Amino acid sequence: MNYLIKEIKKELSDYNGEIVAATKYFTAEEMREIYHQGISHFGENRVSDFLAKKELLKDLKITWHFIGTLQRKKVKKCINELDYLHSLDHYSLAEEIQKRRETPLKCFLQVNISKEDTKHGLALKDVIPFIEQIKDFDHIDLIGLMGMAEHTDDEKAIHAQFQKLNDLQLEIKKKLSLNLNQLSIGMSNDYHIAIKHNATFLRLGSVLFKKEVAQ
Ligand SMILES: *Cc1c(COP(=O)(O)O)cnc(C)c1O
Repeated sequence: MNYLIKEIKKELSDYNGEIVAATKYFTAEEMREIYHQGISHFGENRVSDFLAKKELLKDLKITWHFIGTLQRKKVKKCINELDYLHSLDHYSLAEEIQKRRETPLKCFLQVNISKEDTKHGLALKDVIPFIEQIKDFDHIDLIGLMGMAEHTDDEKAIHAQFQKLNDLQLEIKKKLSLNLNQLSIGMSNDYHIAIKHNATFLRLGSVLFKKEVAQ
């Protein structure tokens, strides 16, 4: 496999945030290679894969993110193994984390900013009430907002969707005196745009590798 880690890092040399490699496309051995090329934040989508890969890579100093949908019934298995959760989006999940997690977990609220995916993420209007609902949960350390823009070539639409999170950050600051400064936005298709909207955690998958294309 050819990785583009050096190229991406060079391209992003003015960006001060973290690059989280989205690892659903990668085996543990491929992740080991990526790690040795300079990326140590990894984000998984599935609990079983996360636990298996963490065990295989336990000799490395990896920061582990969970970026996929986390089912309440799987919280117990994985929650104390994580450094960050990007997909907090409903109350019963927050309740279960509060119950099972032993120390504060850095969490992003996932917000639905695109029109296409209505299944995951809080609706914009529900974010402030949700924050108020979980404010006494001391095992949830709310650090920011996460969103996924529509997969499209329409840059204007992507800008507008990321802007919703910038506006929401301001509103949260004004109404709740809460600084949610971290922003988990930007994937392979739109990370250039996400950086302009103050991304602090880019979640990059396919752009990190170049598959040999059979001609
Ligand atoms: C797969 C995935 C990514 C990365 O996707 P690419 O388009 O391959 O960069 C980012 N975030 C989440 C939640 C993902 O599932």
